[in-house]
Amino acid sequence: MKTTIIAGARPNFIKVAPVIHAIKKAQQNGEKIAYRLVHTGQHYDPKMSDTFFIELNIPQPDINLECGGGTQAEQTAAIMIAFEKELVANPADLVIVVGDVTSTMACSIVAKKLNTKVAHIEAGIRSFDLSMPEEINRMVTDSITDYFFTTTKWAGGNLLKAGVEQTRIFFTGNVMIDTLMANQHKFREPAIWAKLKLEKKQFVVLTLHRPANVDEPGKLKEIIETILNNVNGLPVIFPIHPRTAKIFTDLGIEAENMHLVDPMGYLEFNFLVSNSKAVITDSGGITEEATVFGIPCLTLRDNTERPETCEIGTNELVGAQPVKIKMALEKLFNGNWKKGTIPALWDGNTAERIVERILSFNG
Ligand code: UDP
Repeated sequence: MKTTIIAGARPNFIKVAPVIHAIKKAQQNGEKIAYRLVHTGQHYDPKMSDTFFIELNIPQPDINLECGGGTQAEQTAAIMIAFEKELVANPADLVIVVGDVTSTMACSIVAKKLNTKVAHIEAGIRSFDLSMPEEINRMVTDSITDYFFTTTKWAGGNLLKAGVEQTRIFFTGNVMIDTLMANQHKFREPAIWAKLKLEKKQFVVLTLHRPANVDEPGKLKEIIETILNNVNGLPVIFPIHPRTAKIFTDLGIEAENMHLVDPMGYLEFNFLVSNSKAVITDSGGITEEATVFGIPCLTLRDNTERPETCEIGTNELVGAQPVKIKMALEKLFNGNWKKGTIPALWDGNTAERIVERILSFNG
């Protein structure tokens, strides 16, 4: 079985790492499975890409399509053109896509049009909010996927409602949590820990990158100032996404408890989150990690494609209105945040289950 694995953006690298490691393990066990790793170049900043290859022990990509930058359409088109050439030159039996970024959608379309089977890892999740580019990526990808690997029963339910046959849906768990569990023993203090003399549970971590929160400067400023004014003076550590950094510099926010840092490597970022009082975010993946750590997570969105993080985990949909953020922080500092548990099959063994299943497609 020849597979091609697609990775384009930060959360993709975290998801493909355990799949590649599981394929290598299968190879050592004599299984006939090969992989070719294609980096689309969607994220090209070394802090958003190279760091993850090194820290998570991901082999260098076989090819980098270098399709960074541009509008949604320009990037989709560039990836499709480049990946078509790549797949024609290096045919595969199965193209494996992960998550919900532009590369996920673009490469799955190319693969299907070249009559190549597609497996989607993290299939079926839905926010039902079509103003998010990721939701369109999810819907398009899942409309042409052959094999659906899901993180929850709920995601499988979405696929069934969309008419996907049960026999093509495989509830295998969450590869992001495989990476978390495999690397937990390697988490390490970032420089800011010693610099600020941070202490366990005495600081908050903030990440923001969704267009709805960061593209309009007034809105971004309001969100950040509300947080800074309602965290009881605790330091707020803000590893800033390149998209947000472009806008942030002109906001003129100056507060003693605001600590802006570059995007962090995985091992340092998760050291910080796992020791924090809470994480405030609009990321999807971080809500899953916070759930596994049992760390309170305040999501500054009105919807989520990962409802299990709210129903079972420690996440709450707060939204981005100042009054809502203030109320949620009051609840946190009053000690009234809910305790969560960990969703089924988020156990560190998902990638092995996926590879075992993929090998069964051979027969
Ligand atoms: N992450 C990281 N460094 C950071 C911020 C996030 O390593 O400075 C990791 C985080 O642990 C998670 C992933 O990046 O695994 C989430 O990526 P992102 O928020 O960009 O994407 P989303 O999950 O929203 O698609």
